[in-house]
Amino acid sequence: MEDVLVIHTGGTIAMMDDVTLGTIVTKEHPLKQYRNDLNQLATIEEDYLFDLPSPHITPKEMLQLGQHIESRLKERAFSGIVVTHGTDTLEETAYFLDLYLQTSTPVVITGAMRSSNEVGADGLYNLIGAVRVASAKESINKGVLVVMNDEIHSSAYCIKTSSSSVATFQSPQFGPIGIITKQEVYFYHKWMEREKIAFQTVNTYVPLIKAFAGMDERFIASLTAQEMDGLVIEGFGQGNLPPQTVRTLETLIEQQIPVVIVSRSFKGVVQPTYGYPGGGRDLKDKGFIFAKRLSGPKARIKLMALLEAGYKYQRIEEILER
Ligand code: ASP
Repeated sequence: MEDVLVIHTGGTIAMMDDVTLGTIVTKEHPLKQYRNDLNQLATIEEDYLFDLPSPHITPKEMLQLGQHIESRLKERAFSGIVVTHGTDTLEETAYFLDLYLQTSTPVVITGAMRSSNEVGADGLYNLIGAVRVASAKESINKGVLVVMNDEIHSSAYCIKTSSSSVATFQSPQFGPIGIITKQEVYFYHKWMEREKIAFQTVNTYVPLIKAFAGMDERFIASLTAQEMDGLVIEGFGQGNLPPQTVRTLETLIEQQIPVVIVSRSFKGVVQPTYGYPGGGRDLKDKGFIFAKRLSGPKARIKLMALLEAGYKYQRIEEILER
């Protein structure tokens, strides 16, 4: 039988609705009672690493989680690893682990939108799906996968699209890479090459902001007054900004601080198209970097990882733009 290590980190999947308090609380892990059911699918070992709602997860915990997975895999081989996590920042932790981990062992991350004692709770169901995917031979060497609601998503492209639906995790541009049926774990996308970045620290400060109509240098100047190692901006459409923001942002580039443009549209890719002031072509000519395909939060994780690994401006540009 396959053996799977389940690492718990908190989130709604670890919580219960307390009707008297009118809030969702953390008590003993509510899925503990299902250990025997999970053992029918694979031999399960469980680690309770954190008990944090995912808005409390920072890159420090992401690194700790990555290091924990590494050291458990050094102790002995597992058929697969499952991480349970709050859904709010799950997409960031998943992509962080995807860039960080060097293993070919399947690593699957899952969560729940409904707490364990709510009607239609999805935690146990998602955990079962995650264990099945982590145990499947087809999942080997596919990087970190997000499994929720019978779908398998790549960590690079999936985002939390709904604040409440159980079908929240979607990969808007490329779709899921597989599905889980009653009998099978079924992958149906051809696998692209995966990227790994060698880093062991999380000290860089990289803010993420979203462009808005009428954004001007007042906001940008208050931002650039802070020390930072890089900046990610969700620009308009194909990667355009209000012209009043550009000059102040250029002062970062002059200091070799990468300013990375992604799109606030969640489909399509950014590219330097428009030549007007603040248009993508204008920004590109001024040294802004266009991160292809990635969402703002994921471009931020990748930029941080590249900076932590010691990459400089030009190499960061090459990697993010390919
Ligand atoms: N706020 C919760 C969290 O991310 C939401 C969830 O887990 O679904 O921890």
